[in-house]
Amino acid sequence: MPLDPSERSELRDRLETLARELEAGLRSSAEAARPVELDQPAIGRVSRIDAIQQQKMIEANREAQRARLLAVQSALVRIDEGEFGECRACGEEIGLGRLRARPESNTCIECQSARERS
Ligand SMILES: [Zn+2]
Repeated sequence: MPLDPSERSELRDRLETLARELEAGLRSSAEAARPVELDQPAIGRVSRIDAIQQQKMIEANREAQRARLLAVQSALVRIDEGEFGECRACGEEIGLGRLRARPESNTCIECQSARERS
């Protein structure tokens, strides 16, 4: 069954909230992701290594957030174009349960698990 207008607007609200949260998260971690000053004499070798590892984790986390933000933004475009909720791979409708859990999904659960297996 295609999404009805109230389901569509519920999912649009979720996507807009998600986009705002992801943008805020990226803004607040931008400072922490700045390169470590490696030539600072005040920090020892071990804490430099710690700092570098921590920074790598922050950067990986930010990369995942950026990717999710892009997916959320493209889902908002699909809502405007009336293509939202269709699987990009098989063209079937994506289940409402899946869309509620991850409204930025662009594949149905079957195609997603097929992709993960391959
Ligand atoms: Zn599919």
